[in-house]
Amino acid sequence: MNDYPPEYDQEILDNQYFAEAFPDAASPAQLYRQVYKYTDCGAWLSVRVDYIEVIEPDGFHDYPSEIERSKWIHSGELHKLGTWADMDERGQLVTALMVGSIVEGVDQTTDDHELEANQTDEEPQQFRVRFDAALDQVEQEAESIWNDTHGCKSCAAHFNINLDEEYSPIWKDCPDCNGYGEAF
Ligand SMILES: [Zn+2]
Repeated sequence: MNDYPPEYDQEILDNQYFAEAFPDAASPAQLYRQVYKYTDCGAWLSVRVDYIEVIEPDGFHDYPSEIERSKWIHSGELHKLGTWADMDERGQLVTALMVGSIVEGVDQTTDDHELEANQTDEEPQQFRVRFDAALDQVEQEAESIWNDTHGCKSCAAHFNINLDEEYSPIWKDCPDCNGYGEAF
């Protein structure tokens, strides 16, 4: 039924898209809590927000002017955004999400996985599928970093590694840590 010219096909983009993609999260902050809680690696979430800043008239401009702005808001700051609906009221549109993880103890990070939201081309559920896949990827990367760095004393001895100088990988058959490694 798209036989009318595209310029009439004006979809108003709003954050309802994310409310549909993440029905259990009423806000970016809630989504962050779920991401943190349900990943073994305690992943972080950042949200890119686009908004219009109105510059009031000054000595150079007689009329207010509008500038498009875009900024990333990170995990602990997300509660300031309120709910998806609050953001719609303020004219703030989420345009991308990003997930990653810092592996405790060794301060190594997974890749940053950035997901552009293409509201006009992709259903919320499809975006959700990409988001979940990115989180899985973060989990795998975090696990791989953990396995490369969290060997215990016996793991290190098995690989002839001096733990005072470097991290040891985990030895799968280690009788002491049973192949789980050791938290620092
Ligand atoms: Zn071990």
